[in-house]
Amino acid sequence: MIHEVLAVGPLQCNCSIWGDEETREAVVVDPGDDIRRIRAILSRHGLAVKWIVITHAHADHIGGANRLRSVTGAPVYMHPADHQLLPHLALQAAWLGMRDPGAVDIDTALAEGDTLGPAGASLTVLHTPGHTLGSVSLLCSEERKLLAGDTLFRGSIGRTDLPGGDYRKILGSIKTKLLCLDDDIAVTCGHGLPTTVGREREQNYFLRNL
Ligand SMILES: [Zn+2]
Ligand SMILES: [Zn+2]
Repeated sequence: MIHEVLAVGPLQCNCSIWGDEETREAVVVDPGDDIRRIRAILSRHGLAVKWIVITHAHADHIGGANRLRSVTGAPVYMHPADHQLLPHLALQAAWLGMRDPGAVDIDTALAEGDTLGPAGASLTVLHTPGHTLGSVSLLCSEERKLLAGDTLFRGSIGRTDLPGGDYRKILGSIKTKLLCLDDDIAVTCGHGLPTTVGREREQNYFLRNL
């Protein structure tokens, strides 16, 4: 399995390239920006993008999706509860100090329990609302990895003061969908350093009462 993580755009969103060595098919998660760098990694590994997955509709995660979609022809997947944020991407980008990403087209709705990606290392969708209503995390049990978007960070949790944010919901999502996973699951966060479920269970101050 190929898993490359690169921090893209001014907010350094962690974009994941998740590729299969045999079929050369890849999932790109959160292509927020820097599509040229993403494409360079794809071509270095000889990967073809078949799925573009957005963990939530914040401009730093979704900003490059249309460009990647137009050069690869791959469909864009997102949870429908974040559709309401799409008309406000320009405003959001301004708050975040990014340039306006323009319109983003979503091809396919994600739902809890959906699986996508290469056979043998597919990603299962966990709906984890709280940072936004449509936030999802992606779990690969075979590879012992979780892509947590902006729901869970190393030592922190996603902010809940933006539209659709809900502090009780994010704690509920983390408790019922993420902390029930095994301690050894490696977590790629939406920003910053990676962690593990076990480390966050033990050391994350925000989760101390869960
Ligand atoms: Zn976010
Ligand atoms: Zn973010």
